[in-house]
Amino acid sequence: MVASAPADASLLPMSHISLVTGGAGFIGSHLCEKLLDQGDHVICVDNFFTGRRKNIQHLLENRSFELIRHDITDPIKLEVDRIYNMACPASPVHYQFNPIKTMKTSVLGTMNLLGLAKRTGARLLQASTSEVYGDPEVHPQPESYRGNVNPIGIRACYDEGKRAAETLCFDYHRMHDVDIRVIRIFNTYGPRMDPADGRVVSNFIVQALKGEDITIYGDGTQTRSFCYVDDLVNGILSFMRAEDETGPLNLGNDGEFTVQQLAEEVVRLTGSESRIVYQPLPQDDPTRRKPDLSLARKVINYEISVPLKEGLKKTIEYFRHL
Ligand code: NAD
Ligand code: UDP
Repeated sequence: MVASAPADASLLPMSHISLVTGGAGFIGSHLCEKLLDQGDHVICVDNFFTGRRKNIQHLLENRSFELIRHDITDPIKLEVDRIYNMACPASPVHYQFNPIKTMKTSVLGTMNLLGLAKRTGARLLQASTSEVYGDPEVHPQPESYRGNVNPIGIRACYDEGKRAAETLCFDYHRMHDVDIRVIRIFNTYGPRMDPADGRVVSNFIVQALKGEDITIYGDGTQTRSFCYVDDLVNGILSFMRAEDETGPLNLGNDGEFTVQQLAEEVVRLTGSESRIVYQPLPQDDPTRRKPDLSLARKVINYEISVPLKEGLKKTIEYFRHL
């Protein structure tokens, strides 16, 4: 049999040596997988604070995948041409566990990676967050909104750390011409979330599957916009490919739901007999959140393909088999 002719190389996406920090975490592991699929060589760096080896176990045999246990608050010398800085604990329980370390990860860690980008000429994507908008007074939140963050509250180590990291990205860009892509990720969920990390989607699903009480903090009227991880990762890859863009760029899903609606949907989809109970609302918990995705739609033709119900079903299946 005659092998089919190779495709025109100029039409194939160029492969890169990609560094993914936080690559053993929830989003990072999906990103590593997709980068390998598109032909990149992937170096995953993680200190395993919240990341887990089993998230990347299936990649360890791949000759294009390398794993380095390293903490990004210390500099690292590597030769790469793409950097995805995903390293940072993301759930309130984990980022408040050692708030000073969280701030160091965002500030020192991002500075180290920007230094690496400056030396190598690599393009760097910074995983920022909707938390830079704090408890927003503008709804939905466009990138031009400067936010309403309490700088001395219990969420500040994360919010202000991520804001400072954005500042560093833009200063390295202006001073040293570092090629940056800053994304602001809105609540993302899916398989490989740590069942014990305290975020709302994983908490509700685990509680429902175990028949335990479903814990709504506050009265459940606060809103979030939940994005399935595949949609987010597709957005990340598209933005990294875009030329002459820096962001910040919102990425997420603009369907908005109350936490009460989420709890009821999880109960419905799992067929659980769990009761919904109400507990005190943590300090500075944002009352509503929804991304304005106009810029993402314009710049990268961003599309959402997984509605909440479908994404929840896939995530429930994952947790059911754990
Ligand atoms: P995660 O906790 O699963 O992943 C974070 C990863 O970073 C883990 O593997 C952890 O071990 C690693 N890490 C933490 N500190 C490190 C350090 N100092 N050095 C090296 N590795 C370190 O969380 P996630 O949800 O996958 O989040 C990934 C990124 O996306 C984070 O930067 C987070 O702030 C951002 N983000 C996530 C969401 C979301 O809804 N999931 C929303 C906004 C922003
Ligand atoms: N939340 C809740 N029950 C839980 C966990 C979280 O009601 O068991 C609420 C939380 O107070 C917040 C929302 O769900 O209003 C989203 O919380 P999460 O920690 O997932 O993300 P973030 O607050 O950072 O958006």
